[in-house]
Amino acid sequence: ATAVRKSLTIGLIPADGIGKEVIPAARTAIEAVGSDIPPPKFIDLIAGFESFTRTGVALPEETVEALKNQCDCALFGSVSSPSKKVVGYSSPIVALRKVLDLYANVRPVVSVSANPGEQSLIDLIVVRENTECLYVKQEQQIVGEHGKEARATRLITERASTRIGKMAFELALARPRKHLTIIHKSNVLSITDGLFRESVRAIPTNDSKYEAVIVAEQLVDSAVYRLFREPQIYDVMVAPNLYGDILSDAAAALVGSLGVVPSVNAGDTFVMGEPVHGSAPDIFGQGIANPVASIRSAGLMLRHLGYTRAADRIDNAVDSVLREGQLLTPDLGGSAKTQEVTEAIVKRI
Ligand code: ATP
Ligand code: MG
Repeated sequence: ATAVRKSLTIGLIPADGIGKEVIPAARTAIEAVGSDIPPPKFIDLIAGFESFTRTGVALPEETVEALKNQCDCALFGSVSSPSKKVVGYSSPIVALRKVLDLYANVRPVVSVSANPGEQSLIDLIVVRENTECLYVKQEQQIVGEHGKEARATRLITERASTRIGKMAFELALARPRKHLTIIHKSNVLSITDGLFRESVRAIPTNDSKYEAVIVAEQLVDSAVYRLFREPQIYDVMVAPNLYGDILSDAAAALVGSLGVVPSVNAGDTFVMGEPVHGSAPDIFGQGIANPVASIRSAGLMLRHLGYTRAADRIDNAVDSVLREGQLLTPDLGGSAKTQEVTEAIVKRI
């Protein structure tokens, strides 16, 4: 539901590399939706590897404070990952997900049809749990009877599985097909994946508003196979952290360039849009980064906040420019600049 807001305060964290080129593009797209959102206020915030090398801090306290106390939502660009481990550095995006309790990673993957009016071949959303599973990072190595042994803990809780499940049900309800596939491997991991599956399965039983959603489930290996063979069968997919990580990258590969795939990190009280791509040091500074992933992330962020019309306008403008194929950045085979593509999209919004 849309909270009534007098203004919408948006934190902008371009961070490193092409983040500095594509986040300003996303800002102009938000400004273009006008009265479909409350008057936006932007706050420029610092984080990233460059911040770390300059000041020794990857995620300044002021950034966290501003996000928590002043912002309704945020847009994050991309961070450079150092090629070797740097002492004292850890990714600010991982830290932000934690401090803002952004437990879901939502990644829509949509192919653009060449023919206007025709349905997209691929139009799905991967909803990935973002706080537990194998990524609790409880690993240890011991020397056993037969040499080295490494172990990791995989944590699945009913609470985290239920809240990610609810978010997936909400997203499915809002879509025409209302279809949700639960991804797991409970034939092998009957206790951990079993709990994930049961927790998500129980949601419509406990709340009749979700009864309209058609629920299916699939083992993760066969889901990857079918994703490549017949991606059009999927609508919303929900998965524990590790499977979701792999599935969302695999799904992104189906629609071509990383430069077009958006995401949001979402919790119950905050949402942060983030393009799926990294800082792309190979093209940084040339003005040719594709702004579409960031502009779509802005749209997704607004959709998550309940501003459906604004989000639709952004998505439709992007689709129309991509479909026309006249103004494309080099990653999509064109020769247009970031700014030209952004201007064309803004004009259509
Ligand atoms: P990082 O360490 O920040 O992840 P990376 O080298 O892995 O950097 P990515 O940003 O993940 O780079 O991108 C991988 C490839 O995709 C690069 O060749 C990059 O130029 C290209 N790419 C990524 N994002 C975009 C974009 N928005 N527009 C055009 N090309 C992109
Ligand atoms: Mg990368």
